[in-house]
Amino acid sequence: MYTNPLHTKISYLKGVGPARADLLQKELGIKTLGDLTNFFPNRYIDRTQFYKIKELQDTKAEVQIIGKITALHTVEQKRGSRLVAIFSDDSGSIELVWFRGAKWIKSNLKLDTPYVIFGRINLFKNTFSMPHPEMELVTDYKKSLQTALQPVYPSTETLIKRSVSNRAIQKIIQQLFIDFKGKFKETLSDEIIQQQHLILKNDALFQVHFPESQELLAKAQKRLKFEELFYIQLQLLRNNLIRKKKIKGYVFEKVGAFFNEFYKNYLPFSLTDAQKRVLKEIRKDLGSIAQMNRLLQGDVGSGKTIVAVLSALIALDNTYQVAIMAPTEILAIQHFNAISKMLSKMSINVRLLTGSSKAKERKEIHEALESGALHILIGTHALIEDKVKFKNLGLVVIDEQHRFGVAQRARMWKKNNLPPHILVMTATPIPRTLAMSVYGDLDISVIDELPPGRKEIKTALRFDKDRMSVFQFMREEIEKGRQVYIVYPLIEESDAFDYKDLMDGYESISREFPKPQYQVSIVHGRMKPKDKEYEMQQFVAGETQILVATTVIEVGVDVPNASVMIIESAEKFGLSQLHQLRGRVGRGAAQSYCILMASHKLTNEAKTRLNTMVETTDGFKIAEVDLRLRGPGNLMGTQQSGVLNLKIADIIRDSDLLKMARYTAQDILLEDPNLELSKNSNILQTYMEIDRRTGAWANIS
Ligand code: ADP
Ligand code: MG
Repeated sequence: MYTNPLHTKISYLKGVGPARADLLQKELGIKTLGDLTNFFPNRYIDRTQFYKIKELQDTKAEVQIIGKITALHTVEQKRGSRLVAIFSDDSGSIELVWFRGAKWIKSNLKLDTPYVIFGRINLFKNTFSMPHPEMELVTDYKKSLQTALQPVYPSTETLIKRSVSNRAIQKIIQQLFIDFKGKFKETLSDEIIQQQHLILKNDALFQVHFPESQELLAKAQKRLKFEELFYIQLQLLRNNLIRKKKIKGYVFEKVGAFFNEFYKNYLPFSLTDAQKRVLKEIRKDLGSIAQMNRLLQGDVGSGKTIVAVLSALIALDNTYQVAIMAPTEILAIQHFNAISKMLSKMSINVRLLTGSSKAKERKEIHEALESGALHILIGTHALIEDKVKFKNLGLVVIDEQHRFGVAQRARMWKKNNLPPHILVMTATPIPRTLAMSVYGDLDISVIDELPPGRKEIKTALRFDKDRMSVFQFMREEIEKGRQVYIVYPLIEESDAFDYKDLMDGYESISREFPKPQYQVSIVHGRMKPKDKEYEMQQFVAGETQILVATTVIEVGVDVPNASVMIIESAEKFGLSQLHQLRGRVGRGAAQSYCILMASHKLTNEAKTRLNTMVETTDGFKIAEVDLRLRGPGNLMGTQQSGVLNLKIADIIRDSDLLKMARYTAQDILLEDPNLELSKNSNILQTYMEIDRRTGAWANIS
């Protein structure tokens, strides 16, 4: 019978005693032979070259030399002693130096015996030296598995202290391959291997640890990366299939009078192709028997609201109610105003419910909801209070999702026998590659096109010395009847330092733009909500021309007449925040501008961020740069997705492979959703094994 060697404990290997097995498990998480085969080098050193001592240069490079130790002595110093060996070949001599472990080395090193040494070269007082070299007798070296590229494995402080060197790890892995070379099970199907031009599992594992050439190493890495990404995709896609089968939803069978009447008579503009496509995707979901759980991504201003409205009308056509939830009161009011205006000529009952709704109003709303007289309820968190009961809630639209947790989504579900369909809208672009690997439980729609006639926002980077000309520019724009935002960073609302910057800025603006000619509003987190609301409304109504604010305006306010966004200390903001802020302008017909004010001393990363903003307004491009700068760990949703625990692939660098892996997984599930075909038996077995190991996170999403 075939037993899988991968499950065997590493202490089974020759040369790995219980103490070392324990250490490897604690430090590197390696328990079994399978863990060991998947413990991949993080780089390789070219060891095809041997150097002569007379060829050495002062480059700090790592080199390999063959020679003999001709003398050994200890040098006493104030701070401990060091062991020095004279190492010579036929062209010259260098010093080998040890600051630790002298005793062990002294008693084990052989004089006048050929060694291969390897390490970094230092030049000190005209003498080359190599501290703590890796050494091996030439006779042993010749016996070991010959490899052109020397793998370098990840290590830890403790391992180095306990003298488990890279060479030691390599020897353990060598033992593994002496015992099991060619005996590892194939994990992909012949079909995939052929289609993707991959090498076999056994070859890939061997070449990744003992590469015979750069070319074979590249093939090995490709094969192993593909496999890793493929199984993540297979799991995500399959979980999604299972969820759709399990979670039944209401079937919105028809598109009826509400939708058609609106579409024919009241649609304020013609939809973009992207809006049409997204709407089709949503309609298909709503008409199927599974509950919709869809993420609608679209840059600021791409026109997500109309998609929400049209989806709501489909729900109404099927006699269901709709809830539309926004993260702030200001946004909820804006949605309410815009949507009730759009629907004003139709007999549709739309109401607003927020934290400030009066008791009498609330009571009315509660009653109308339960009787079914109320069709669309727009509001904030207030919508998910227990008192709010719908007669027949069929669709929930959540705007600007990052403010709401999954838990809140779940709470809404309990209000019905079946869960309502859910449409989450976000203006935070998530790079496709990341979205692909993270959102297994959500289907994704993307509006990747702005409505026609939008003028690209002009963005410039300016410094303190330019302030006077920036003021002059503001005057000119205000002269034309435009409004201006000035935003200050406030990392923590309690940060006294940033707060002082804001107040200083407000004072100097008030001086430069004096009353009565100019009116300036200020909004920040230390103000009472009522005062904040008032100041905001003053700006929205056009009573004030300048709004000085902290990032409270970040989400969603719509003032089409505002055409200038000035961001102070722009280097302190992250890319996605800068992009969100810039999206506040460019909503009207006028040419809009974004001015990034920065200090002269910028880190390279800050320079990249600011230059990216100047160069592009494409949210997805900006998100890609953000992902490269910050890594996937900082983006939402990544924590439970497994993309952070990749062993060999890299979702940024290997995005093409990721796509291939996804398409391949899709094709396979389309043909064989339960992996029952005999040609897919390798896949089924591997899938089940991974699922057993990682079942924890697979079930979360
Ligand atoms: P967001 O995606 O940021 O929520 P909105 O839905 O608020 O964007 O739309 C931004 C602006 O663009 C609104 O003023 C809206 O009326 C307008 N708009 C949306 N879609 C179109 C379109 N297809 N043609 C013209 N204007 C549109
Ligand atoms: Mg919006």
